[in-house]
Amino acid sequence: MSLHNNALRIIQEASDLACLNKNFLESFMAPNHTHIVSLPIKLDSGKVKTFKGIRVQHNNLAGPYKGGIRYHEDANIDEVSALATWMTIKCAVLDLPLGGAKGAVMVDTKELSSDEIERLTRAYVQKMINNIGPDKDIPAPDMYTNSQIMGFATDEFMKITNSNKRGAFTGKPINLGGSEVRQEATSAGGLFATLEHLRSNKIDPKGLRVIVQGAGNVGSHAAKIAEDNGMIVVGISDSKGAIYNGHGFSVDEVLTCKLEHGSVTHCIDSQVNVEGINLDEFSIISNEDLLEMPCDILFLSALEDQVHKNNADRIQSKIIIELANGPVTPEADEILEKKSIDVLPDVLMNAGGVTVSYFEWVQNETEMYYEAEFVLKSLDKKMCKAYKETLNYKKKYDCSFRIASYIKALKRLQSIWENRGNI
Ligand code: NAD
Repeated sequence: MSLHNNALRIIQEASDLACLNKNFLESFMAPNHTHIVSLPIKLDSGKVKTFKGIRVQHNNLAGPYKGGIRYHEDANIDEVSALATWMTIKCAVLDLPLGGAKGAVMVDTKELSSDEIERLTRAYVQKMINNIGPDKDIPAPDMYTNSQIMGFATDEFMKITNSNKRGAFTGKPINLGGSEVRQEATSAGGLFATLEHLRSNKIDPKGLRVIVQGAGNVGSHAAKIAEDNGMIVVGISDSKGAIYNGHGFSVDEVLTCKLEHGSVTHCIDSQVNVEGINLDEFSIISNEDLLEMPCDILFLSALEDQVHKNNADRIQSKIIIELANGPVTPEADEILEKKSIDVLPDVLMNAGGVTVSYFEWVQNETEMYYEAEFVLKSLDKKMCKAYKETLNYKKKYDCSFRIASYIKALKRLQSIWENRGNI
């Protein structure tokens, strides 16, 4: 199955429903550029090893290309093209003056030392130097890249260009021009939009039972913020397995235990004996089974393709929030729609990350820096506005939230395309 084809299929469906201009669509489907580079670096042993680097720049109608760089041995052009396309849609759903791109280096970072990762990152920037920059293409962290790696990349960019252009990358450490709130931005944005969805359906968040798939950066912050808003977290998972307690549990206790012992499942190990955790109430289950347990909201914050045609029918949650990219397949979408389950799509719900990256870029360009409270308030406002506008399109076209969010994005991009003139 091709992830890129999945993305194109939804674009086609949304554009057919909204009767968009066929010439616009023809010019929009394929990425503008795909850069492939080879990155020979000297390992600590003195041996040279060559890695493959990719940057797909999908579309820059609305502004400079924007999107993360992932370091993963299985990264490939199809996946990176899908992610770049989703970035274009995501930035347009949030009305950001940015386009969409994504990058990758095919590497298993666990096999490299931190010096080797720094050399690899600098080599990527050297090879991509003509294609990136604050007014061309602004990369950010993604899977297995982080603020430290963005620090190396920013330093290399500033050295090569003999400039102080820190806005060439976002997701940087705060003392290199990073923004307050960036770390938890994706989860905070997702929760702001979730709360708006509950308000518009007159549902009180207090007491709602929540399951979170993936206790990583996005999932752990989402679990904490859900709890802060009165929801009860009843299940959580990571790559090693899942735990469930129908009465709920303290997110802090479970996450502290994961930090100390490596997995959420280790909290239920009687040898570990975590204070405040009543082992009798918990069960350890598989990642797959957790998705099918009773709850009111299911946050998907791990990987793509998690709810598919073989398990969609058994999902019990009435609301699914896509914090990961592409966690529900198009086939599952159809099944869930028939079951009247609301699927709030990735291009809206995880756009908090790129929105705060946009704030970071603005701060770097103006050298004016915002306090956390201002960033959170601005993020809340943008997420709620995007949710409400998506809901209006959903009502107007009588379609799913996913198709409505694509219609919103594509209409915006089409009108920019028209205003720029196309002969
Ligand atoms: P992360 O690496 O910090 O966390 C991923 C978590 O998922 C880990 O805890 C891992 O153990 C867990 N996991 C892996 N396989 C699993 C499985 N089969 N079942 C359950 N859990 C599993 O990554 P992250 O930054 O939290 O990103 C998560 C998702 O959100 C990705 O799809 C990413 O593309 C997307 N996303 C992240 C951001 C961001 O700002 N970090 C922004 C937009 C989208």
